[in-house]
Amino acid sequence: MFYKRNEITREKEKIMGIRTRLAVLACKTSNAVLRRMGRGGTNLPGKIALKIDKDILKELSRGVKVTVVTGTNGKTTTSRMIEQAFEEAGYKYFANKSGANLLTGIITVFAQHCSLSGKCSYTHALIECDEAAFRKTSEMLPVECLVVNNIFRDQLDRYGEITHTLNAIREGITHVPDATLCLNADCSLTSSLADDVPNKVVWFGVDVPIYKETAFELSDAVYCIHCKTEYEYDYRTYSHLGGFRCPKCGYHRQTPQVGVTQVVRTGADSSDIVLNAFGHSHDVHINLPGGYNIYNAAACVAAAEIVGIDEDTAVDALSRFECGFGRAEQFELGKSKARMMLVKNPAGYNQVINQISNDEEECKIAFLLNDRYADGTDISWIWDVDFEALARQSARFTRILVSGVRADDMALRLKYAGFDTGRIEVIRDYENLLEAIGADETPTFIMPTYTAMFDLRGEISKHTDIKAFYE
Ligand SMILES: [Zn+2]
Repeated sequence: MFYKRNEITREKEKIMGIRTRLAVLACKTSNAVLRRMGRGGTNLPGKIALKIDKDILKELSRGVKVTVVTGTNGKTTTSRMIEQAFEEAGYKYFANKSGANLLTGIITVFAQHCSLSGKCSYTHALIECDEAAFRKTSEMLPVECLVVNNIFRDQLDRYGEITHTLNAIREGITHVPDATLCLNADCSLTSSLADDVPNKVVWFGVDVPIYKETAFELSDAVYCIHCKTEYEYDYRTYSHLGGFRCPKCGYHRQTPQVGVTQVVRTGADSSDIVLNAFGHSHDVHINLPGGYNIYNAAACVAAAEIVGIDEDTAVDALSRFECGFGRAEQFELGKSKARMMLVKNPAGYNQVINQISNDEEECKIAFLLNDRYADGTDISWIWDVDFEALARQSARFTRILVSGVRADDMALRLKYAGFDTGRIEVIRDYENLLEAIGADETPTFIMPTYTAMFDLRGEISKHTDIKAFYE
């Protein structure tokens, strides 16, 4: 009897093994075919694998220490910063790219780094995960460290209410009780993820204001998540982030183990800060502009500690870090130096505006608005962005360029923000847009939504030898 049961188990394992092999094979070959066709699609191979074996990700990630980065803004930059730390610590790791941050894309990436039998030869994986997709993905990954950057209102039509996003992450956390959470202490929404969970938590945050003046912003979290009383703030960094506390129920910001104690300088290219990490003070140079990247840097140092990388290595990694695709990436376009900064929701957009406003030089500005699925099909969010702050400085802008599928709506928004309509140039064709940008030496800030960034980059790649992102 006993012998028989063993035999059945062995048969079962054999079938499961075959299924895994088939799934990996299908994933690898379909991915190769897609690449051959010059397609950057990363989700389809994973979809096929998932059809063959619903537990495929569980199989492929067995024994791998996984760091997951999720949250609304800064996932990609934070992931790249942590990646730099992994690199410098000499970890044997692999990472996914932002275009592959849904369950199926993550499966594709794991399959690429596994043998046909489904054995992964890497010790660590660094996975950027879409907030909504984390609920499902977390069921299958052995997560060692979960970074949640922040939670903002984003693409409303896709995720529904903010609490919907928050609950997706909250539910995901229940699947990984052994993971250490790396949470933004300044975000009252993110911070609430630590309520009633057994997980260990490492907090990061910014202890002081970042800018002297900030864009006017609608807060995404005015009222206490527990008792609906309006929060009081000791200081704010941007949007709803800062030293919050609820006067009624006492819910408040946690003191971060990794906290920015001083913002020495914020420039157009980089920032200098003083970071206190686990009681040690570090002068940190961040090779990226913008207050949001100060948060990303703090998150990186906190996550590095969780996965066993010492703080000095993590801090060094930040100064050597080079910015990635669409996140303040620089191009030489004709005669002009252009900086491309992805915009996808009011909070992120206002940060970009803060950054441009902090500069005093003459420049061109270009707004690219699309309304495809990945951009959010409802573009009403642009009315929550503080374009008025830019309009006040419009004398500094030598040209005001507008493009994208919804260029007219963008132009209308700028008109109401106070820009002189006679100066707003709507240029629908990207080739003509690039010509306008490159026509003179004045630097340019380009602010595209997600798919507009891809379109523009496609146009740019026809002219120079810039690599496409999926390579
Ligand atoms: Zn309260």
